[in-house]
Order: sequence, then structure tokens, then C-alpha cells
Amino acid sequence: MHVQLLAITPKAVELIEFAARTCYRSADKSRPGSAEKFLPPLIARGHESPLEHATATFRISGCSRAMTHQLVRHRLMSVSQQSQRYVSEDNFEFVVPPSLSPDDLPEYRRDMETLRLMYAKWKKRGLKKEDARFVLPNACATDIVISANFREFRHIFKVRCSPHAQWEIRDACVAMLKTLNEHAPCIFGDLMKLAGR
Ligand SMILES: Cc1cc2nc3c(=O)[nH]c(=O)nc-3n(C[C@H](O)[C@H](O)[C@H](O)COP(=O)(O)OP(=O)(O)OC[C@H]3O[C@@H](n4cnc5c(N)ncnc54)[C@H](O)[C@@H]3O)c2cc1C
Repeated sequence: MHVQLLAITPKAVELIEFAARTCYRSADKSRPGSAEKFLPPLIARGHESPLEHATATFRISGCSRAMTHQLVRHRLMSVSQQSQRYVSEDNFEFVVPPSLSPDDLPEYRRDMETLRLMYAKWKKRGLKKEDARFVLPNACATDIVISANFREFRHIFKVRCSPHAQWEIRDACVAMLKTLNEHAPCIFGDLMKLAGR
């Protein structure tokens, strides 16, 4: 799986600080470094709407459909995902869960090959890609682009970077959290405790 930041609001922290200070008519108190003191207590109090002014876009590739099925449940996120209606899965890649014993890997690969043959068979018998895909596995690799504002990203990280989250969505979200924390530590820093095992 590869997680890549495609775009982020320029000067995101400054923008959020300006928006938040508008509430208190205190924009004149902005100084270099003032956001680091001003924003964390604001977030801790639950005044999170200023975070909605900044957004980020990520591409996640080589992840499983099992993972993206969970990710797309986040309704305030915008999504574009590789289609199984329009893109052929004749040679689909697949994700191997790390819990699989190396001894079982050959059998797992054989099962995937069987599913590949089933997909080809049903297409040959006249099913469209959109119907032949019914026999494809959750392990099928996919490519997805997501955008969300910083408030929604914080929400997603709180539930998906938790040790209770499934390993693949956790890996993707921890990677995104680390990236956003590099750009906006005063917005995401408090969540970095979730990034460790
Ligand atoms: C550990 C874990 C296990 C899960 N297991 C299952 C499962 O077994 N089955 C299953 O179906 N799902 C499961 N889910 C998915 C879960 O129920 C949510 O659908 C998913 O986490 C999306 O999050 P959300 O609804 O909080 O937020 P988002 O859709 O990201 O929305 C963000 C926030 O906006 C608000 N919001 C958005 N839409 C509404 C609305 N219509 N009404 C009111 N408030 C709204 C809420 O405060 C919400 O928290 C699981 C999630 C986790 C983290």
C-alpha cells in the first residue's frame, strides 16, 4: 500500500488561526508561532469548526477493497475510486494480510488464481465487467483518492488509528496522520499518541 499526499491547503495553520480569531476579533494577536499556543486549547474545548477551512487530498494505492469499503463510510469525505464496472480486473493484484502464515501463502495465491479464472470464465460467457466482478475477492487491490477537511480527518484518525481498528485502515490512517502532522502539528499533534502500536 502506498499513501501519497496530493494536495493540501496552503498556509493551512495560518488560515485556521485567522478563521478562529475572527470569532474573538483577535486577528491582531497573530504572531509567528502564535497558532501553536492558540489552537490546541481551542480544539480541546471542542471549538472545531475553524478546522473545516483547510483540506487535504490523498491517493491510497495498492490497498484492498476490504479496506476502502470501511474508509468510504466516512460521509464527509470526498472519494474517487477505481471502478470495477469500467476497469477490467483480468489481472487483478491482491493484498495479503500479514496474519497469513508464510506456509499458507502458496495456497492463498492459488485461491486468488482460481478467482481470476472464475472472473475470466464469466466474462467469456457474456457477463459485463460489472457483473463478472461479483466473484472477485475483498483482497482485490484498488486505487482511491480522498479529500476531507481537517476536522473530518481528526475524526477519522480518532476512530481508525485506534488499536481496535482493522490493521489495513489503521496503517493507511496512521500514514495520513503522520503526513498531516508534519504540515500542521498544532492541529494533529495530540493524536500522534495513536500512531504508535
Ligand atoms: C472499530 C469500528 C468498527 C465498526 N464496525 C462496523 C460494523 O460492524 N458495521 C457497520 O455497519 N459499520 C461499522 N463501523 C463503521 C461506523 O459505524 C461508521 O459508519 C464509520 O466509522 C463512519 O464514521 P461516522 O459515522 O462517525 O462518521 P462520518 O461519516 O465520517 O461523519 C463524521 C461525523 O459527522 C456526524 N454525522 C455524519 N453524518 C451524520 C448523520 N447522518 N447524522 C448525525 N450525525 C452525522 C457524526 O458526528 C459523525 O461522527 C465500524 C467503525 C469502527 C471504527
